[in-house]
Amino acid sequence: MRVDPLAYLSDELENLKQQGLYRKLRILDGEPLAHASFDHRSVVNLSSNNYLGLATHPKLKQAALDAVEKFGVGSGAVRTIAGTMEMHMELERRLAAFKHVESVVVFQSGFAANAGTVSSVLGKDDFIVSDALNHASIIDGARLSRATIKVFPHKDVAAARQILRDIPAGPKKLLITDGVFSMDGDLGPVPDLCRIAEEYGAIMMVDDAHASGVFGKHGSGTVDHFGCHGRVDIQVGTLSKAIGVLGGYVAGSRALIDFLYHRARPFLFSTSHPPAVTAACIAALDVLESEPEHIERLWANTRFLKDGLRALGFNTGHSESPITPVIVGEASRAMAMSDKLFAKGVFAQGIGFPTVARDQARLRVMPMATHTREDLQYALDMFEQVGKEVGVI
Ligand SMILES: *Cc1c(COP(=O)(O)O)cnc(C)c1O
Repeated sequence: MRVDPLAYLSDELENLKQQGLYRKLRILDGEPLAHASFDHRSVVNLSSNNYLGLATHPKLKQAALDAVEKFGVGSGAVRTIAGTMEMHMELERRLAAFKHVESVVVFQSGFAANAGTVSSVLGKDDFIVSDALNHASIIDGARLSRATIKVFPHKDVAAARQILRDIPAGPKKLLITDGVFSMDGDLGPVPDLCRIAEEYGAIMMVDDAHASGVFGKHGSGTVDHFGCHGRVDIQVGTLSKAIGVLGGYVAGSRALIDFLYHRARPFLFSTSHPPAVTAACIAALDVLESEPEHIERLWANTRFLKDGLRALGFNTGHSESPITPVIVGEASRAMAMSDKLFAKGVFAQGIGFPTVARDQARLRVMPMATHTREDLQYALDMFEQVGKEVGVI
């Protein structure tokens, strides 16, 4: 009999189980609502990136249905061959206006936008100066570029400046930060990083995945929030989180976008979005501009939930956004707490290594605009019970 050459994978999985890091996928039974059903249990959903509830907004659904009727379910090709529809161009024009930039290119995901952009804009003689907690897609793009990667400690502008200063003249330098850090919910020091990028002639890039639809006017991002228009050369956003659909985009100069049309590999070698996705994204921009109440409710719910967790004595780190970590230390403890909460009707995902540092395991709690006060109060009550049970508070 043939020996299974992948047998070592079972050992690795056994390892994960022993460390309490093995996760079964939770199955969503219906729509991704604020109060949803997972694994046939009705729970307050505190784990979704669908911040504004747009994933089930009637205007987005109708736009998707109409697009399917009119244009079918697939685009049939990559953008550069036969897969560019007028609606793809319309979405890019709308996003450029929304972001106050010359031009935008849409990718299949935020991951593809980051990886495709960083890997094509830099080459092997160049330098990438990157925050230690930047998203995995930035790290992968940096590796694919074959540039030298210099990592500075989280939000440490002085350390980033030191690195920029020590890079010899000649090669290109890219300074890159997340706008909102996805596991801690804190903000990148965008204005200070812009200043040192300007000082040393570096390209400035911000990944605004968790800021898209959450920070800035109508949710246009951290560059608007911090008043840094014109100082960030490359902005990445996602259409998969608060926008409620799927996709990522790069916003910048016409030359940058034209270059990415010709060189970004996910754009060149992977099929474009189906019509339903693109039409729903356009509808989402209409909703962001005409219904400001969603963002207002998100922030009101964020304040209520954060204040409640802190008042109970939980360590919520340095969050400045709806993403609220409840830091408990050991991964096994975070997972146990998450499971107990789930049994009581609250879904707050436990997160452990390698997504966060080994001793920083946490529950990642995120309110949505569509949670009721009753939902959130119930969640706080259950956090209190379970937190005491496992000895976190
Ligand atoms: C989620 C996320 C991405 C990836 O976006 P997708 O559209 O889900 O692929 C990129 N960067 C950051 C910081 C993220 O949190």
